[in-house]
Amino acid sequence: MSGFFECRQDAGGGPLLIAGPCAAESREQVLQTAMALQGIPGLFAFRAGLWKPRTRPGAFEGVGKKGLAWLQEARERTGLRLAVEIAVPAHAEACLKAGIDIMWIGARTVVSPFVVDDIAGVLSGSKACIMVKNPLNPDAGLWTGGVERLQQAGIGELAMVHRGFDAFSSHPYRNAPLWEIAMEMQQRFPGLPMLCDPSHIGGSRSMLAEIAQKALDLGMQGLMIETHIDPGQALTDQAQQLSPGELRSLTGRLQVKKADAGGFDTTLESYRAAIDGIDEQLLGLLARRMKVSELIGLYKKERRLAPYQPGRWAALLENRLEKGSRLHLDNDFVTKLFNLIHLGSLKKQG
Ligand code: PEP
Ligand code: MN
Repeated sequence: MSGFFECRQDAGGGPLLIAGPCAAESREQVLQTAMALQGIPGLFAFRAGLWKPRTRPGAFEGVGKKGLAWLQEARERTGLRLAVEIAVPAHAEACLKAGIDIMWIGARTVVSPFVVDDIAGVLSGSKACIMVKNPLNPDAGLWTGGVERLQQAGIGELAMVHRGFDAFSSHPYRNAPLWEIAMEMQQRFPGLPMLCDPSHIGGSRSMLAEIAQKALDLGMQGLMIETHIDPGQALTDQAQQLSPGELRSLTGRLQVKKADAGGFDTTLESYRAAIDGIDEQLLGLLARRMKVSELIGLYKKERRLAPYQPGRWAALLENRLEKGSRLHLDNDFVTKLFNLIHLGSLKKQG
């Protein structure tokens, strides 16, 4: 089994690309998708989930072990390596037995150090390539712990996958990218490739190209993109899966900019990405605040209360100044900021 770096050389030094359906659904769907993906530049592995972690029971939960034979057939026909998610030790055992080349530990699993430990125990000493996705919650420590647990197990090769986070305000993304956390992980583990999963960050087809380009601009080495032979019929993550043709055109439009050459500055890009992400969250929070203002406005109107309540405003500003100063924010700045917010809110309340 060749590792990620060898694959990257095969890909001519360009980004590593993993593609395939969110979930294996049938033998035909697996084979048709894999064959339609053949020849896309940089594509080195075919992904498919066999055991699907679903938020609520009763939804399609994957075909399980029987999909392994479909994947093996896809590998025989296309020469693509296989990548499968493992969520419990039994999945790792089944994948090792079936000779799956790459396994990844998903966001819902990385949150549990107990489960990661148990999986690492099964993989210990194997030659498998393992990818560790970020945990659901924005916690670089937990992600680091997952990587370290696998490093200690002495496996073939490791990589990380950035798939976004459950955040208080993730709009317009399905999962907030919080690029700064992925950047921090790249600095902590400079020897490990970082792949981006734009599908789970964006949650919708139209957002994938921009996210994928951003990941490359930030120096990430690869992409994992969900691709289905007929996305409209997909049993899981329908809105975010691309058709093989759409993937081909998306990857064809990506630009790999070289750090240093031509003045492209990855460090500056990563700071900018952090700022962009934080601003998006700020806007999302402001919009939520305005919605609440609207509700307060209606409530006051019904009770014939004036929108402006001087006592409440004085107490609010004092409280925000105190909190702001604990966060080392300048008093004058906080005063001006909340005056603007308050004015906007009064306007909403009519
Ligand atoms: C997936 O890749 O299909 C998946 C379930 O991902 P995540 O663990 O990132 O939600
Ligand atoms: Mn998915």
